[in-house]
Amino acid sequence: MSSEEIKPSNFIRNIIEGDLSSGKHNHVQTRFPPEPNGFLHVGHAKSICINFGFAQDYQGQCNLRFDDTNPAKEEDAYAKAIAEDVKWLGFEWSGEIRHAADYFDKLYDYAEELINKDLAYVDELTANEMREYRGTLTEPGKNSPHRERPTAESLDLFRRMKAGEFEDGAMALRAKIDMASPNMNMRDPVIYRIKRQHHIRTGDKWCIYPTYDFTHCISDALEGITHSLCTLEFEDHRPLYDWVLDNITIECHPQQIEFSRLNLEHTITSKRKLNQLVVENHVDGWDDPRMPTISGMRRRGFTPAAIRDFVKRTGVTKKVHTVEMSLLENCVREDLDKSAPRAMAVLRPLKVTLTNYPEGKVEELSAPNHPNDEAMGKRTLYFDKTLYIDQADFREEANKKYKRLVLGKAVRLRNAYVITCNDVVKDESGNIIELLCTYDENTLGKNPEGYKPKGVIHWVSAEHSKPATIRLYDRLFNVPNPGSAEDFLSTINPDSLEVLKESRVEMSLEQAKPEQGFQFEREGYFCADRLEHTAGNLVFNRTVSLKDSWAKIEAKEGK
Ligand code: ATP
Ligand code: MG
Repeated sequence: MSSEEIKPSNFIRNIIEGDLSSGKHNHVQTRFPPEPNGFLHVGHAKSICINFGFAQDYQGQCNLRFDDTNPAKEEDAYAKAIAEDVKWLGFEWSGEIRHAADYFDKLYDYAEELINKDLAYVDELTANEMREYRGTLTEPGKNSPHRERPTAESLDLFRRMKAGEFEDGAMALRAKIDMASPNMNMRDPVIYRIKRQHHIRTGDKWCIYPTYDFTHCISDALEGITHSLCTLEFEDHRPLYDWVLDNITIECHPQQIEFSRLNLEHTITSKRKLNQLVVENHVDGWDDPRMPTISGMRRRGFTPAAIRDFVKRTGVTKKVHTVEMSLLENCVREDLDKSAPRAMAVLRPLKVTLTNYPEGKVEELSAPNHPNDEAMGKRTLYFDKTLYIDQADFREEANKKYKRLVLGKAVRLRNAYVITCNDVVKDESGNIIELLCTYDENTLGKNPEGYKPKGVIHWVSAEHSKPATIRLYDRLFNVPNPGSAEDFLSTINPDSLEVLKESRVEMSLEQAKPEQGFQFEREGYFCADRLEHTAGNLVFNRTVSLKDSWAKIEAKEGK
């Protein structure tokens, strides 16, 4: 059974199952509520898998809701990209996409309800004064002088705030809770602020906007959410979530449940910092294959199944932890090992001339697309007098551990013949530019007689191969936790991208479709670039190497 089919028990599943069996709920309704102020990252992938995943597991529904209460940073392009990412990950939201902005009228009415119940008031303290009055974690706050103003006065001022009579920031609507609460979120939080800002959905209709805390709980309740799953930083906001819903006229009261964020070593999961990488051109956009964004991982060649599997393996807990990148990469390898057809690509070509091969002859050899899956079919390889092998696969001298081609020795060419290297040709500076070899015509699918080749290497025909651009990606950050560095930009790995322009790939790769993944034998998993690859301009991105080379490096360095 693949790990995708296992439904691991965890504390959220226990709560949901308890609610279903006690009759508190007869269905599961969740939501994923991104703010459209950037692209989604691997942490959001976790939230998506959890919210949509629980809904799926219990034949429930999950809404996609844009939490668009902060118009200054929000863009339609982000909203589109987010929706596409969710679909690509394999999930379907229930009905139309929702927006917190769809509820602005209702939210406004609920705010008036709180004022009428003397549970909210318009405050005229400046932002600085408000901060002073708020107190600290060890000292209680002080009541604002406006806290006890008559309900009618607050109502009048709030309506005039809405009508645009006051400057931005001149006043704000605050919930009247408890300035001495040990929970700072309960010290009369602001629930509406004046902000003259154009909104991507409501245009210039509003000059006051509700805060996240006021909006989120009401949006959840209006949508009939049963379990409002979010990350741990909202734990201290839960009393406010409950307070708002307890004090307005609304039937539904979702249960907010917090789980720990996903943190991934060697990368960053903060939209603000990812945005900085993009804006300052440290990467080539949000979908740069080195980015931990969903669109970056997609372009890199990670599969939705691998990402879902990864999220599953990280579990659902309240423990704060950082996951190793190798866990994600192993999930990708495992999925691609099953699904990716094999092909041969010579990344750094070295010319090989077979001196005993007839001039002009071309053989068509057949090779399986997958060693363990016959259903994936076969492809044709072209074999002739001039070939390329990888520069790393030849040495003039080598010890026994080197299982590739050595001067005077033999090696098998994958899916083809055994060749022996007899001579090398060098340029004026002593660089090897060509190997003169002979092939053994009796070794196609058979062991040679009387000698043993050292190993198996990959190759392509010089004439019957295609040029390709190959991009090798490495970790974007050199340190495991760049987010905690004083200046995270200083931890960027300067060698995170290497572009090879001289590579040659076998003919069959001309048919590769953008986003299609392959295992280039002995090299790693690669995918045809989603945006730049065409039949006339082959561009492949290395998704992940065959083995975890960092584990080796870290082991060697005694980490
Ligand atoms: P960032 O900190 O990157 O700006 P955010 O939390 O502000 O992220 P939102 O768009 O508000 O971004 O997030 C949508 C949902 O995704 C929220 O419910 C949030 O809890 C969840 N989420 C964000 N980051 C992570 C993470 N690293 N792990 C798990 N869930 C996350
Ligand atoms: Mg957020």
